[in-house]
Amino acid sequence: MNRPPYALPEDSDKPFKAVYTGACFCEKVKFEIAREKPLDAKFCHCPTCQKLHGAPFQWAAIVEKTDVHFTEGEDQLIYWNPGEMSQEYILPCKISCKNCRAPIMDEGRNMLLLFPTLIHFDNLEDKRKFYPSCHIFYSRRAVDVKDGLPKWAKHKDDGRPIPETLDEEPDKHRNKC
Ligand SMILES: [Zn+2]
Ligand SMILES: [Zn+2]
Repeated sequence: MNRPPYALPEDSDKPFKAVYTGACFCEKVKFEIAREKPLDAKFCHCPTCQKLHGAPFQWAAIVEKTDVHFTEGEDQLIYWNPGEMSQEYILPCKISCKNCRAPIMDEGRNMLLLFPTLIHFDNLEDKRKFYPSCHIFYSRRAVDVKDGLPKWAKHKDDGRPIPETLDEEPDKHRNKC
């Protein structure tokens, strides 16, 4: 755990400058974010996100690993790799707090997916920088979302966006996975 987000990068001449802070529900795990705006942000409706978050969909913001640094509670982190069904630290994995069990972030092989609801925003303007650009895996959705954002059946930019509701195009997409 000697690399970002667990440790600061050793070879960087650029000092880590926190723009936002974030914490899990019980605040034993705290982290800082050194980037004003994520690379992208999405609502993911895939069944894995639905089940592991106990929510209709996941709100995730994509950042570089070097953009994030845990400042407290690294010893409180637990991991889950849904592909391997394992609690071992195998990427890509989900990172949660051992104490309150809140999902904190997803660590991919190259990127991190942050959950903006854990970030302390001072104002709405900053929070808007983390708003999603689209919905992914919308064909697997638990609920319709009528927000005008592009809805992709699976991954972003994969074919054409699909309708927001079934009444627009009955039955065609919902049962496809
Ligand atoms: Zn916690
Ligand atoms: Zn998902």
